[in-house]
Amino acid sequence: MRSLFFFALIWFGFSAFANAQDNAKLQVGGATIDVSLDPAPPAALRKLVLNWIATAARAVSIYYTKFPVSHVDIAVNFHEGEGVGSGRAFGWKHAHISISVGQSTTAADLTDDWMITHEMVHLAFPSVADSHHWIEEGLATYVEPVARARAGDLLPQKVWGDMFDAMAQGLPKAGDRGLDFTHTWGRTYWGGALFCLLADIEIRKRTGNRLGLEEAMRGILKAGGSIEVEWPLERVLQIADQAVGVRVLEELYDRMKAAPVSPDLHQLWKDLGVDRQGGKVVFDDSAPLASIRKAITASVASGSAFRN
Ligand SMILES: [Zn+2]
Repeated sequence: MRSLFFFALIWFGFSAFANAQDNAKLQVGGATIDVSLDPAPPAALRKLVLNWIATAARAVSIYYTKFPVSHVDIAVNFHEGEGVGSGRAFGWKHAHISISVGQSTTAADLTDDWMITHEMVHLAFPSVADSHHWIEEGLATYVEPVARARAGDLLPQKVWGDMFDAMAQGLPKAGDRGLDFTHTWGRTYWGGALFCLLADIEIRKRTGNRLGLEEAMRGILKAGGSIEVEWPLERVLQIADQAVGVRVLEELYDRMKAAPVSPDLHQLWKDLGVDRQGGKVVFDDSAPLASIRKAITASVASGSAFRN
């Protein structure tokens, strides 16, 4: 997410917050994560925030097999109130993330938060021209819950239920053009996420469900791609396709970049075996793409994975 403003920092009156900035260093997925906490929070909140960052970094590291960059600075600014806001990822000069956390934020708020994981996914994709912003946001929107499910931090029911509810926002509306030409919020975040879901399914179809979007994205990191470099999108997609040996991303991009492609989502959910009945997410494991749906969100974490 790229937000346009930061919350005002109001720390006067919060005696538990010290004036000075606090720093911490985390090692996750082969990366050094330098966290600055401003102003220095009380010990209990400090612990929660560092655990929240480490948990997200671990999920992203599982998806990509390592953290996307070897070093990142994360600036946490505390605002008055509760919850997480104003996340942004930057590649300019070096990878860094800024994010705002409410001083009254609870452990449950941080467990529910998607934003820090979303920003970390941004670190794994090269900076591309503005017209392709949809792939940056779409990938972060799609991979964030999938990576957390792979890590055992989200239930598949939650991931697929949210996609079932939200994905239609990515469909082209009357007068919309292809993804490179219509830059509304819906087409950018959910149009991009739909592109990623379609690519994930197609890679799995063509590889007998052996490989998916994650292996394609790992190929980009292996080739030296990250938010710290600026590459043409065509080059990024070619490298990703080569990593899985099927030309799915390039073909899908050719289809969707200029034309308003509108897949039948009703049929897609049916094929994946995802439905919502009375507010509850229901899976149909006899659906033709059920094994692909299961593979996308299967937890790979050791032990009894789900923690929430
Ligand atoms: Zn974003």
